[in-house]
Amino acid sequence: MTTQSHAILNIAILSKRYKPYLHSYACLGAVIPDIPIFIFFAVQTFILRTPQREMWGSRYFMAAWQNFFDIFNSVPLILILLGIGYFLMHSERMTVFAWSMLIHCAFDFLTHNDDGHRHFYPISGFIFESPVSYWDRDHYAEIVAPIERLVIIAASIYLFPRLKTRLGRVVLVIINVLFLASFFLRRFF
Ligand SMILES: [Zn+2]
Repeated sequence: MTTQSHAILNIAILSKRYKPYLHSYACLGAVIPDIPIFIFFAVQTFILRTPQREMWGSRYFMAAWQNFFDIFNSVPLILILLGIGYFLMHSERMTVFAWSMLIHCAFDFLTHNDDGHRHFYPISGFIFESPVSYWDRDHYAEIVAPIERLVIIAASIYLFPRLKTRLGRVVLVIINVLFLASFFLRRFF
């Protein structure tokens, strides 16, 4: 799933009506597993000036980068974080943050075919190849991508009245408009 979908869906799932302050922790947990990829892209593009083809064709698969990506998508490590937050620190914020990372991993697990993460790193190198992909047309993306958008619209409608800041509501609307526009542009032009 795309990073913005993870954010909207996770905030909606973890939202509690009278605790809007938890939204930012759900958002952070939803976004963090994808941050290493953005760092990789920024380092390769702006510092090393690696050509696109080499970046995604070989650099992306280097062991050091893969380890860096997978640390943030590791279910065992996130479970430790969840345990610390819940049992040791009794922190609702940290618990929501860790749950959001876990939910991100669960949706990635189901929507990545040959580009999945080692979700059990460092215990196991197992990578699940889901039969469906959110972007790869060889693996039903033409069905999965519209479903993803519908789910995000539904989650946004649910979430909108629960957001207490104008900034939050504006960002939610902008993401949905861009998301739908990109879908129709790709489809009809
Ligand atoms: Zn992800």
